[in-house]
Amino acid sequence: MQPLVLYNTLTRKKEEFKPINSPFVGLYVCGPTVYSDVHLGNCRTFISFDLIYRYLLHLGYKVRYVRNITDAGHLEGDQDEGDDKFAKKAKLEKLEPMEIVQKYSLGFHNIMREFNTLPPSIEPTATGHICEQIEMIKEIINKNLAYEINGNVYFDVEKYNKLFNYGQLTNRKLEELLDGTRVLTGQDEKRGRLDFALWIKAKPETIMHWPSPWGSGFPGWHIECSAMSKKYLGETFDIHGGGMDLQATHHTNEIAQSQAYCNKNPVNYWLHTNMLTVNGATMSKSKGNGFLPGELFAGNHPLLEKGYAPMAVKFFMLQTHYRSPLDFSNDALQASEKGFERLMEGYNTLNYLKADSISNENIIELQLNCYAAMNDDFNTSVLIAHLFDALKIINSANDKKTKLTQDDIDLLKSIYQNFVFDVLGLKNEKIDSKTSQALSKVMDLIIDIRTKVKTDKNFELSDKIRDKLNDAGIQIKDTKEGATWKI
Ligand code: AMP
Ligand code: ZN
Repeated sequence: MQPLVLYNTLTRKKEEFKPINSPFVGLYVCGPTVYSDVHLGNCRTFISFDLIYRYLLHLGYKVRYVRNITDAGHLEGDQDEGDDKFAKKAKLEKLEPMEIVQKYSLGFHNIMREFNTLPPSIEPTATGHICEQIEMIKEIINKNLAYEINGNVYFDVEKYNKLFNYGQLTNRKLEELLDGTRVLTGQDEKRGRLDFALWIKAKPETIMHWPSPWGSGFPGWHIECSAMSKKYLGETFDIHGGGMDLQATHHTNEIAQSQAYCNKNPVNYWLHTNMLTVNGATMSKSKGNGFLPGELFAGNHPLLEKGYAPMAVKFFMLQTHYRSPLDFSNDALQASEKGFERLMEGYNTLNYLKADSISNENIIELQLNCYAAMNDDFNTSVLIAHLFDALKIINSANDKKTKLTQDDIDLLKSIYQNFVFDVLGLKNEKIDSKTSQALSKVMDLIIDIRTKVKTDKNFELSDKIRDKLNDAGIQIKDTKEGATWKI
């Protein structure tokens, strides 16, 4: 079996995954900003990293998965010098800022549970790590790579770029980046066009602020992730992830801060998920085109024709590779819903499939194909195609068109368990395996009785049994080898 390779945004190529201290793996993912509900686009990113976390666990790695909660500051960008978003929302909803944080953090956790994602190992908050952020800023100032003006602290990008490479993550030269930014005016405090805030001075109306060596204020947009990843995963760790929209600014600045602080490149593998779009436009909080998972489940959004179960939505997302764009559409969702149902029916069928003494299928190869797909940069799209191959075999065996041994059936069950349930994190919402095993036994009994009834030439009763089962959604098919059934 080939080793796990992943596409590293930093080097722009696929690389074999080699953890610094195997079997331990450090994984950091930029978490949600909890001043509003997460939309479906945010969920796509968190579901993708849940998949990556699950697969690393499946391979036997001991993963420390850190996903932060941004509960302070978070200006929209480096040009944004406005109010703290939490304080704004607190005023609007007439709540304490920390009530806003609590409300939307709980909402986020509920949605993640609905999508059957695993909780991270550590979920640190920005407000719980103000001291660490201040310490880091102090050290960057000591290194002469940041400067203070009027209670604000800025990172000096041009000075940093003389020692390191500021555009390394996006593969762009400083000159190109400078060309793309606004020329400074006399109003600007910062020295360089690309300089960004590490610490922002509190205004009289600012609600959330903390004391610091530069006066009262709050941290800039990016420093929390540098401080918290270093604290929990060390100065250099294995994987850092987030959505592609974070690459050019947030992650570029995170690298700069961490490298300025400890002279080391902080992350070995940078992984970025592509965006969920609606009619080709990125779903985003600021554009207001994002719909909430709850609206999708209930079907109460103008863009939706009906509601969809969380697992059908998750399956829809996982059918596309995490690095490919995914456009939302009712048709695609409906197709995914049907596909997911068929896949789950296959699992139920497996529970009552009768083994043959010989086999016509190569299930070991099928399992290897599943691993090959996942080892190729977590390619769920190809994995799911192989799972449908498994489904085809199961249905053919049920229709007695192919033969499977008990070993084949057991291996197919373990493929479902490993890939569908453990790695993709899907759940059989309609029927669990105990119920399906019980149903299988009851159906064996009914088929035996019906065979006896037919042998006794009581066709009226045998047809009645068939029709009643049909009314209950169970179809019986009489074949030369005996009767088969499916839901
Ligand atoms: P935010 O709460 O806006 O900071 O975003 C939380 C996470 O969701 C980040 O990793 C973003 O990159 C990601 N994200 C935001 N919008 C989308 C989208 N439309 N599709 C996929 N991921 C997104
Ligand atoms: Zn971050």
